[in-house]
Amino acid sequence: MSGGTERGPIVLSAIMHHASPVTDRHLRIEVRRRVLSPERPMGQPVAIMKSRRLSYLVRLALLIACLGIAPRGSALERWFYVSQNLWVDQNVTNLVALMQRASQAGYTHLLLNDSKFCRLATMDAHYFQNLGVIKQAATNLNLEIVPTVFPFGYSNDLLFNDPNLIEGLPAQSTLLVVSNGLASIQPDPPVTFPGGDFSDLSRWTWKDNNVVEDNGTARVTDPNGANARIVQQLTVRPFRQYHISIQVKATNFVVAPQVAVLAGNQALNYNSLGVQPTQGWTTHHVVFNSLANSTVNIYFGVWGGTTGSLWWDNATIEEIAFLNLIRRPGAPLTILTEGGVPLVEGADFSTLTDPLMGSVPYPGVYDVYHFPPHLQLLSNTLTNGTRLRASWYHAATVYDGQAMICPSEPATLNLLHDQAQRMHAAWGARGYFMSHDEIRVLNWCAACQTRSLDAGPMLADNVRACAAILRQVNPGGRIYVWSDMFDPNHNAHANYYLVRGDLAGSWQGLDSDIIVVPWNYDTRAASLQFFAGLGNRQVIAGYYDSDPTLVTNWLSAARPYTGISGVIYTTWQNNYSNLEPFEQLVAAYPAPGLWLTPRLLVSFVGSQPQLVLEGERSHQYLIEQTPDLSHWAAWTNLTANHATLTFPLLPPPNGSQFFRAACLQ
Ligand SMILES: [Zn+2]
Repeated sequence: MSGGTERGPIVLSAIMHHASPVTDRHLRIEVRRRVLSPERPMGQPVAIMKSRRLSYLVRLALLIACLGIAPRGSALERWFYVSQNLWVDQNVTNLVALMQRASQAGYTHLLLNDSKFCRLATMDAHYFQNLGVIKQAATNLNLEIVPTVFPFGYSNDLLFNDPNLIEGLPAQSTLLVVSNGLASIQPDPPVTFPGGDFSDLSRWTWKDNNVVEDNGTARVTDPNGANARIVQQLTVRPFRQYHISIQVKATNFVVAPQVAVLAGNQALNYNSLGVQPTQGWTTHHVVFNSLANSTVNIYFGVWGGTTGSLWWDNATIEEIAFLNLIRRPGAPLTILTEGGVPLVEGADFSTLTDPLMGSVPYPGVYDVYHFPPHLQLLSNTLTNGTRLRASWYHAATVYDGQAMICPSEPATLNLLHDQAQRMHAAWGARGYFMSHDEIRVLNWCAACQTRSLDAGPMLADNVRACAAILRQVNPGGRIYVWSDMFDPNHNAHANYYLVRGDLAGSWQGLDSDIIVVPWNYDTRAASLQFFAGLGNRQVIAGYYDSDPTLVTNWLSAARPYTGISGVIYTTWQNNYSNLEPFEQLVAAYPAPGLWLTPRLLVSFVGSQPQLVLEGERSHQYLIEQTPDLSHWAAWTNLTANHATLTFPLLPPPNGSQFFRAACLQ
């Protein structure tokens, strides 16, 4: 069927009291929402609505319907996601062609990402010329560009500006011993794999039966779906840095093996080991921080492997110091004598940095392991054998180098301000998309810990600060954010990767003017309900390089809620082969009238009040006003030429003034 629109009678009221000088430029005085179920036949008011007002609007809606004004196909904005290096001319040419194709198909918004958005200060005129080409194409095609900003979670691009702003795990009281002008790590206590040469597998704590001895190695062949693990339990010192090396050979081994470091149910290592299906003997590295644990289980394992052969050999473990050492105010390095006397950097020891931290092959890229730096002593009072204790912070990444920026270091906020200003100068966009997403390391460095906040309130504070920056740079502009870190059905909970504490409550940082973009298909019903309950509008991120028809399940799950304003064709693989079918599914979906619910706000520009209606382009809206909540009169009736309409208001001469709006068509 071609798309139709179910109209539900919906009334929103904004109330403007005596205008008083306020400085908040986007102050919502009060919004009253009254909703009738769109599933009920028209003319059967439910109890929460005063029937007199309702029937008036219903009659009006029916009248207009009788006049033959047909609803347009879908209430929803149609978005598509593109991540591209816009410095390259060919990429710009391709993008403009894609924009033409998408516009032709019915798309209205382009969600646009480029790693260079985080370092516009380093971009040349050529880059900004390319942005101009894209902006012009968008204008010609009536496409709205929504650029991404603030990558919290996948922060490498932002960390390009200062790799030391990465969130750091604490290493505490590492033992160093002076020898010939250097202070070198002393294992405290010594740590080793008893069966590390794999000549006697019985020396390991336990293993699965399909891990067998093979000429001084441990071999796994054709596990056929079974786990194949060999495990050593070790005693470690809390908050120390450990390095594991292991040699691996593989022949047509289909599922990649991993080294897992578990303390109870807590994993201390998430980096990919990087073993190829077929490779000769290759040394791989794992680094972990013991955090608060004194016992760990180290797994050399395959989970769900299928076919092929894999060999392990020569496993070693050592305590190390200063690998990926972070230097910034909120991640202090302190070195004490065992008697507790602090050493002074530059006087007692040379300035200590790890020049390979977050810098190879370019800033913002972090490796798992390289040879750590030495602590060089300057004071000759530190004789051979002197024992020192060092406390410091090191970078930690997840999977393939994913790095999280510290939200608590003041320099991070400076970076965000700078990015927002440069991005808005470059794009002049109506809205920006905050890229909070899968924040997997958080709340460990001194800058974080001195705030005495749990992870949830810390993230809430961060997203408030981010929204405030965008509102300062782009007053009245729309603000979007990915859902996962603010959703208790998804990632906003305790025991999330290397986050210290509980992420619950992060959502309290989202005011209801922020548009949330849920993307977790499996929890779609609960997620949509959760954010609708918070009063946030939502744009659904669909597709994810799978069956395009799944978007229908998203839309069906969203039927009960107001404020569903759009759907994104979200590809992480630059795969636009389903662009048209996806759009057609969205356009054909019978959108419930609830999705057309307008929002009425009262905001101020200086002391000048204005009424803001947030709806959908090309829909017809009636706004009524009353001084007493009894006698309503039409104030304006118009078809929206934009999704946000603003009307200047005169302050009411006395008493209050009330407004309400309904979408008629
Ligand atoms: Zn921090």
